[in-house]
Amino acid sequence: MVHPRCDRQKLTDIAQNDFILTVNKLSLPRAVFSTSPITTEIFTHQRPLWIFPDYVIKIRLLGATIQEAAQDRFFTNMILIVSLNIILLAGAWFVYRLIKREMELVALKSDFVSNVSHELRTPLSLIRMFAETLEMRRVPTEKKKQEYYRIILHETERLTRLINNILNFSRMESNSRRYNFRTVNINDIISSVLTIYSYRLEQLSFTLETALEKTLPPLSVDEEAIAEALHNLIDNAMKYSAEVKFLRIETSRADNAVQITVIDRGIGIAEEHHTRIFEKFYRVSYGLVHTAKGTGLGLAIVQHIIEAHHGTVTINSEVGKGSRFVISLPLTEST
Ligand code: ADP
Repeated sequence: MVHPRCDRQKLTDIAQNDFILTVNKLSLPRAVFSTSPITTEIFTHQRPLWIFPDYVIKIRLLGATIQEAAQDRFFTNMILIVSLNIILLAGAWFVYRLIKREMELVALKSDFVSNVSHELRTPLSLIRMFAETLEMRRVPTEKKKQEYYRIILHETERLTRLINNILNFSRMESNSRRYNFRTVNINDIISSVLTIYSYRLEQLSFTLETALEKTLPPLSVDEEAIAEALHNLIDNAMKYSAEVKFLRIETSRADNAVQITVIDRGIGIAEEHHTRIFEKFYRVSYGLVHTAKGTGLGLAIVQHIIEAHHGTVTINSEVGKGSRFVISLPLTEST
């Protein structure tokens, strides 16, 4: 038989540090015995002491109550589940983006193959046609003959540029492209590139404007590579011009840099494509993309060349108004 007064020690032993056990007499407001000096009204269990119907024994878990502990656990679990879901969603989104990107690249590569085939076939069939006509001596005048020779020459140059572009691109991809730096005047490179284009520009009724800064300091560059970058920009300006056929090339000196600007008044490029057009194989899917064939490599090559010179290439363009590409080459220490 348990008496609250005499069995204090026994109850304290049972409770240890895990519970608070309190014995109350129903008629009294305060506990007649408690294993803890802490007074509390929150008890998880309450049982009558069956031998002493006037007394009840109350139990409270020390620390958190079961409900509190359960609630605590619930919140912790909820936070964990929500965080886990967020991580899973982010992972799924990331995988989706990767797959989408891969599929885009596969589509771009397949377009690239068909574009390259077309780009190879067109000049080849033109060369063949004009060479055959010349060989059969069916050309009535000397002037016409000269024109056919020029076309053959031009198409050969186009083929060479295309093949060089592909070869240089594959070198860039394998990091094996080497540059030969030499101190030159940028204006000289531009003039010799423009000589190659003069006939074609005239044939296509392009207005050509040049504004070359006379006092440009010489720069240490890879002449061939800079010419290649210019070829790509000029080719594009001509390819993507529709009604207004206009080309302007400027050179200028900016802070610690020499700038080359290529301007056209062609179809222009919407802002959302401004960074993507520098990616390999990327072509804008509207405008003249179906008639003006290309490989989608030109601007990727331009960017690679200019970055190898520690410079930048930027674009300013508006649909229907034209484009302006600015190459900025830093002045080297020797200049
Ligand atoms: P492509 O061989 O297709 O010309 P580029 O890498 O040189 O490849 O150019 C990528 C895309 O950027 C082109 O397909 C075209 O849509 C767009 N683009 C480049 N230059 C111009 C320009 N001067 N005017 C309008 N669009 C341009």
